[in-house]
Amino acid sequence: MNKIWLSSPHMGGEEFDFVKDAFESNWIAPLGPHVNGFENDLCEYTGAKYAAAVNSGTAAIHLALIMLGVEAGDEVICSTFTFAGSVNPVAYQKAVPVFVDSETLTWNMSPELLEEAIEDRIKKGKKPKAIIFVHLYGMPARTEKILEISRAYNIPTIEDAAEALGSKLNNKFLGTFGEIGILSFNGNKIITTSGGGALLSSKEEYILKAKFLSEQARDPAPHYQHSQIGYNYRLSNICAAIGRGQMKVLDQRVKERRNIFDFYYKNLSPLPGISFLPEPDNYFSNRWLTCIIIDSERSGGITREDVREALVKENIDSRPLWKPLHLQPVFSNYPAYTDGTSEKLFENGLCLPSGTNLSREDLQRIVNVIRNVYSKKIYVG
Ligand SMILES: *Cc1c(COP(=O)(O)O)cnc(C)c1O
Repeated sequence: MNKIWLSSPHMGGEEFDFVKDAFESNWIAPLGPHVNGFENDLCEYTGAKYAAAVNSGTAAIHLALIMLGVEAGDEVICSTFTFAGSVNPVAYQKAVPVFVDSETLTWNMSPELLEEAIEDRIKKGKKPKAIIFVHLYGMPARTEKILEISRAYNIPTIEDAAEALGSKLNNKFLGTFGEIGILSFNGNKIITTSGGGALLSSKEEYILKAKFLSEQARDPAPHYQHSQIGYNYRLSNICAAIGRGQMKVLDQRVKERRNIFDFYYKNLSPLPGISFLPEPDNYFSNRWLTCIIIDSERSGGITREDVREALVKENIDSRPLWKPLHLQPVFSNYPAYTDGTSEKLFENGLCLPSGTNLSREDLQRIVNVIRNVYSKKIYVG
């Protein structure tokens, strides 16, 4: 049985032409025409005014924090239900993450708990310096409400759209809502540069500063002159070349991921206790990963682990939903404003293989394995 991966890279065909061009022009460096071209492509696609391409989404978040002035001891409000890459940069700055739980409509940051957390931090003597909110699995967060709170308290936002390129809210692309938006092009994301990321903003000063810091903060001078600490975070021209090819198929990839979601929904939602995250009105998700929730009280005792283990036996990769960061050993001592939502999602949720290079037969094979778990446990006897 061939291995089925959760979400593997899927080249469109034109990437190699761009890479070949990079070789032929000898732009084999962390700058070059494809880096600029990729930034233009990202702006054109998302409607962002300015973009800076860097070598990871994590680096993009790190630079965004620096631009918003986050320093040692500052508090930064973070989604707890996310990948560690969202929050590790807070620790790079020796700042303090303050975790906020999810809500059930989108699985993203709860605006109600966000406000509660801000009020409580202020009461304890420290106003948070920034808010990092995430659009998990491509589903837009309740962005308007979060931005309203951000404005009311005058705390700027970093919008982590690492998983949500191509998703929209009220027809506006995610990544363009926050003071600074960030994207990731890691190997498992909807499009990839093998590794890469970007910052988006409507403020040119942020983007110019991000480029400056990502190229080791070299002051203008004939010699190497530095008055600030810099980083080696700029995207390579080779990786950007891959990205330019990937941008050509992004719309197609979004369509395909949404079709994969529909296929799973059609085939698995009739099974008792299995549910999916619906798309609220005016929300458009790229459906980066299709996730199911298994309620063992309604499934006849079948748990998420039963399904995951059955898939493992058939050489099929699946993954529990993100483990909330406030439960991770490395972050467990930080303040957290939780109500159990993300813990429950982690306990009962499973990401199913959602790569656009999966065939209909692959998807059918996955569905059959899951149906089999049910037929063994419920329908027989
Ligand atoms: C992937 C990801 C990141 C980090 O991006 P990298 O390019 O892997 O550094 C940050 N946040 C979220 C939600 C992600 O999924």
